[in-house]
Amino acid sequence: MMELIGEILKLMVLSGLALAGVLVILIWKKGLATKVTYLRFLVQAVSMVAIFYLFTYPVWQLIILIVIFVLPLFIGRFFCGWICPFALIMDAITLIRKTVKVRYRLLPDKLNKFLHNLRYVLFLVFLIIPVALYLLDPPSSFDTSFLLAMLLSGPFEPWRILVGPLIPLIVPWEGPLAISGVYFSYPYVQEVILYSEVVFSELIVNIIAWVFVGLTFVGSFFVRRVWCRFCPTGASIAVVNRFKGFKWAPMLHIDKDEEKCTKCGICKRVCPVQVTEVYDQKGGKITTSMCTLCTRCVEMCPYEDCLKLKMGGKTVFKSRNWLEPSTIE
Ligand code: SF4
Ligand code: SF4
Ligand code: SF4
Repeated sequence: MMELIGEILKLMVLSGLALAGVLVILIWKKGLATKVTYLRFLVQAVSMVAIFYLFTYPVWQLIILIVIFVLPLFIGRFFCGWICPFALIMDAITLIRKTVKVRYRLLPDKLNKFLHNLRYVLFLVFLIIPVALYLLDPPSSFDTSFLLAMLLSGPFEPWRILVGPLIPLIVPWEGPLAISGVYFSYPYVQEVILYSEVVFSELIVNIIAWVFVGLTFVGSFFVRRVWCRFCPTGASIAVVNRFKGFKWAPMLHIDKDEEKCTKCGICKRVCPVQVTEVYDQKGGKITTSMCTLCTRCVEMCPYEDCLKLKMGGKTVFKSRNWLEPSTIE
C-alpha cells in the first residue's frame, strides 16, 4: 500500500513541478498577476510531497536546521511564504473560510507585534533546554558533541520543535494515527505527545493532542496564518540585516516605490500576517522579519511597478495595474 502511495506521490511531484513551471511561464508572459495565489498553493503542495520524500531518507537533522536558519539570510522567509507544510494547512483552512463566506478576524497590531517578539523568546527557550540538560549532568570536560546530541536527540528533542512545521499530513514513519497502514500526523502533534506524556496518562495525552489540533484549526479559521504570528521556526530570519555589513540581507525582498503608492491600504488588508511596514514605510527595501515573502501584497497592489519582489537588484515579480483592463492578450 505504502509503495503504491509512494509511486502516486512521485507522479504528483513530477506533474506538479511541470505544472508549476508552465504556470510561471504563463504568469510572466500573460501578465496574470493575480494568479500567483494558485501558483503558491501548487508550490506548497508539491513541497509538502517533496518534504515527505525528504523524510524517507536518513537526512542529517542538522542539515534541515541549517537550511531553515542560514538560507533566510539570502532568500528571507521564502520558506514560510511558499514551502512550509503547516502554512499550506493554514492556507487551506483560510480557503474553506472564504468559501463559506466567514470574515477573518484581525489581531490588534500591538498584540501581533508582541507575538512576533514572543517567538524569539520561544526560540531561545528551545535552545536553552539542551544547554540546561547539559549543565544538569555535565561531562567531566566540555563536550560539544554531547551538547549537540542533547539538541538533536536528547530526551526532549528540542530540534523537533524547530522543524515541527515541516511535518506533512501523511508521514513515512509510525505517526500517531494509522489507517490501513498509512500513517498520519500533524505539525507539532508528536511533540505535544512527547512533552505531555511526561506528566499525564495516555488518555489525557491523546485528549491534549486532539485539543491542540482542534485549537489550531479553529485559530486558523478565524485568524489567517495564526501559528506564523509566534512560530519559533519563523524566527529564523534575520535580525542580522539590522547590522552594518548585513544590509544586503535578505537578497530576496519586497521593494516599494514611494512615488507610485497612493496609500490605498490594500497591501495592509491582504497581508496574511498583518505586516504594516509595506503600507507605512516610505519606500525602498522592506526589511521586517514578519514578512514571509508570500507576495500577496505585490499581487494585489493595483499600481504598476509600485511593489516589486527583488532578488538582489533584479525584479522577479511586480505589481500590475489590474484596475484597468489588461492590454496583453
Ligand atoms: S512561521 Fe512557522 S508555521 Fe509559519 S510558515 Fe514559517 S515555519 Fe511555517
Ligand atoms: S497596495 Fe500599493 S498603492 Fe496601495 S498602499 Fe499598498 S503599496 Fe501603496
Ligand atoms: S508584506 Fe506582503 S509579502 Fe510580506 S507577508 Fe505580507 S503580503 Fe506577504
